[in-house]
Amino acid sequence: MLAGCGDISASSVSVKRNIIPDSAAIVSAGSNEAGTASAASQVDSSADAQTSSAESQESSELKAGSQSESAAAATDAPDKTSGTGEMTIHFLDVGEGDSTLIESQGHFLLMDGGDRDHSSFVVSYLKKQGISTLDYVIASHFDDDHINGIVGALHVFTVSEMLEPGYAGTTNVYQSLKNIESQKSIVPVVPKVGDSYNMGSISFTVVGPANYSHDEENDNSLCVLMICGNNRFLFTGDAQETSEKEICGTGISLSADVLEAGHHGSSTSNSETLLNAVSPKYMVLSCGKDNSYGLPDQDVIERIRDKGISMFRTDEQGTILATSDGTSITWSTEPSTTWAYGSVPDRTNAAGSESWDSTISYNAAGDTGTSAKYILNTHTMKFHLPGCKYAEKISKKNYAESNESRDQLIAEGYSPCGWCNP
Ligand SMILES: [Zn+2]
Ligand SMILES: [Zn+2]
Repeated sequence: MLAGCGDISASSVSVKRNIIPDSAAIVSAGSNEAGTASAASQVDSSADAQTSSAESQESSELKAGSQSESAAAATDAPDKTSGTGEMTIHFLDVGEGDSTLIESQGHFLLMDGGDRDHSSFVVSYLKKQGISTLDYVIASHFDDDHINGIVGALHVFTVSEMLEPGYAGTTNVYQSLKNIESQKSIVPVVPKVGDSYNMGSISFTVVGPANYSHDEENDNSLCVLMICGNNRFLFTGDAQETSEKEICGTGISLSADVLEAGHHGSSTSNSETLLNAVSPKYMVLSCGKDNSYGLPDQDVIERIRDKGISMFRTDEQGTILATSDGTSITWSTEPSTTWAYGSVPDRTNAAGSESWDSTISYNAAGDTGTSAKYILNTHTMKFHLPGCKYAEKISKKNYAESNESRDQLIAEGYSPCGWCNP
C-alpha cells in the first residue's frame, strides 16, 4: 500500500507571518505576493485528498477496538497567536536532539524533549504557550537527546497520558524518567501498531515499531502518524533502516505530506524504502548547527533533494511551525535551499559526549584503537577507511574490521565508500 502521494509535484509553500511566537526563529523575506515560481500558493493537497481519506479509513479499520478516549480536557484554550489552524506543529530548535510540540484546539502533545542542555528551553517554551496540562507526552525512545526535556516537562506540567516504547533504557536519564513518573503516579502506556488516539480535532496512530526487541534501541522508536483532516505528518524518532522496512510492511499506509527526517538526518535512517512509502512533500530535519557528529549525512541530503522534497531544518532556521487546517499546510518560514550536510565528526567530542546515541559512541570509541586497514559494513557491503565518518556510524551488529586487500574485498562483494575512497 505504497500509493497515495506519488502524484504530488507542487513544492510551493505559503508563509504566514502572524503565527510565529517570539521564540520561533526566522521568517524568510520571501513573499507570496512576489508571485515567484518557488514561493507561491498554498499547498494543494486536494489532488490526493480522496486517497488520503480512503487511507485514513483503512487505517482506522485496522486499529478497530483500540480507539482511546480523548484525554481529559486541558484548561481553557489559551488565547495565543499560534493556534490559528486545526493543528500547529512546533518543531523546536533543541540543537542536536529532537522535540516537537503539537497543539489542536487548546490541547497539547509533547513528543520528545531534547537533551540536557535544552530541557529548560523546552519547559519555558511550553509555558509561553500557556500550557498547564499536556494531554499526551510521547517518548519516542530513551536516548538522552530525546528524553531529558520530557523529564523536565513531567516535573512542571500535568500529564494526562504518557506513551513509551516497551523496552528498558540503560541511562541515568531513563532512571530519572521512571522516578518522576512514579512520583507523579503516571503509568506509561506501551502502544502497539495500529493503536489510535484523539486530541482536539486530530488523531494519531502508532505505526511502529513492529516489535520492541530490536538490538538497536533506536529501532524500538515509536513511530507516530498525525492526522489532521487530509494532512498527515509522520514521525519515526531515531528508527533505523531495519525498523523503517518493518513499518512499511504493517499494512498501514505511511503516505504523508510531512516526514520528520529520521535520526537527525543520519544515513542509518531515511532509507529509500521509507521515503518511497511516505512520499512526502516536505521533510523537517532536527539537528544541531555544526554538530560534531557530521549530521546530516550527505547521502541523505542528496536523496531528499533528488526527490524534489522541500526541506526545513532547525539547525539553520531555528524553531519551525507548520499549521494545518486539514487541507493545506502553512509554514512559518520558507524551505531551506542550502542542502548543506555535516562535516567529518570530531571524534574526541563524539566519544566524550553523554548526549548521543549508543550506536555512535560505541563506534566512535571503538575505532579509535583500531589498527585494521578497512572497516566493513556487513549489511550495506561497503568498506571504509578507519577514519571515515560513515565507518563511525555502522551499528554494532553490522560492524567488522578487515586487513584484506582492496581487491579481495571487492571480490567478496564489498564496494568502496564514495566518501572516503578507500
Ligand atoms: Zn536514538
Ligand atoms: Zn536522537
